[in-house]
Amino acid sequence: MEDKSREHFSGYQSIPDRENYLLAHYAIRSENTTGRKYAEPVQVYRGPYQRDRDRIIHTAAYRRLSHKTQVFTNEFGDYHRNRLTHTLEVCSIARTIARALRLNEDLVEAMALMHDIGHPPFGHSGEDVLDACLVDDGGFSHNRHALRIVEVLEQRYPDFPGLNLSMETLEGQQFRATKKDTEVSPSLEAQVVDAADSIAYDSHDADDALELGLLDLSQLKEVSIWNTAVNKVSEGRDLSANLLRRAVVHELIDVQVKDLLDNTVAKIERLQLQSAEQVRNQPRIVGHSDHMAHEKNDLESFLMQNVYRHPSVIHVRDSAQAALLGLFKLLKTRPDLLPDNYAHRSDEIGLQRTIGDYIAGMTDRFAWREHARLLES
Ligand code: MG
Repeated sequence: MEDKSREHFSGYQSIPDRENYLLAHYAIRSENTTGRKYAEPVQVYRGPYQRDRDRIIHTAAYRRLSHKTQVFTNEFGDYHRNRLTHTLEVCSIARTIARALRLNEDLVEAMALMHDIGHPPFGHSGEDVLDACLVDDGGFSHNRHALRIVEVLEQRYPDFPGLNLSMETLEGQQFRATKKDTEVSPSLEAQVVDAADSIAYDSHDADDALELGLLDLSQLKEVSIWNTAVNKVSEGRDLSANLLRRAVVHELIDVQVKDLLDNTVAKIERLQLQSAEQVRNQPRIVGHSDHMAHEKNDLESFLMQNVYRHPSVIHVRDSAQAALLGLFKLLKTRPDLLPDNYAHRSDEIGLQRTIGDYIAGMTDRFAWREHARLLES
């Protein structure tokens, strides 16, 4: 029998046609891209932001996220998020929001996959060590380092350093690296990724801490957004603690996404947004209602007090920080221990930054292994 579904397929749908059909006036369009630092031929079957997304996925830095800490190191077990699963969850939430707002999903996905690529081993604990070690050399921030990775450190193409990403994709990360210091707002797509990051970690850090036994459900009763979600999902049913926790986490994400969409759509309508350029002159448009912002603040304060400063987390953090500091100091006195592909960069960018780049690229387990090999033998 003839396959009717194929009758309408007659080759490529152009990217502008597809985007004109799907996207809002205020979304970023591929055809309006300001391009890449090094000009490259256009691909007819794949838009610029799809290419950016694919390039990010194929980096070593992206693959290494699977062995980098989000909040809990792998000493805690195998259940909880790592930097890669967090990244994928941010990407998933960001795409949902972008699709509902008719924004450019490819651009959002590229920026979401890149957003944490600059994290060193052991998450923010590792970042603090590198920042202190590099204090005379501009410090270290994972957001700035992500830009360094995609612009300089990843060497995958013969014609240019880094990934040569589109300016709009880089802009998302530049916004994260400079935040608050900039007068001009980034694209709505970049704002969505930032909001999705916060929705993901607020919900999932509570989930992980409960599963790991660092928190129990009764402690969260003091948190209003959590309590409201418990009442909504249990509806008088007697759910097991595990099922309740998981249902609450889904509800937490849902309620935050809905609030963000309602509030953002109302702002877009109020401003009568007609173009991506208009977004630049406005304060941040993608955001929560005041009520939800307040609720999220309360949850974040609770997590800070009860999870991020939990004695077990602090204990692991202290030993991880001591290990990284030991490695940094050793490599400073023994640069001959640097791998060849790093050693030659020292003349160009200085020994300190070279060591910083090397350590920042390590996974948690590689850092532990190197520490054992070089400092414990
Ligand atoms: Mg993140």
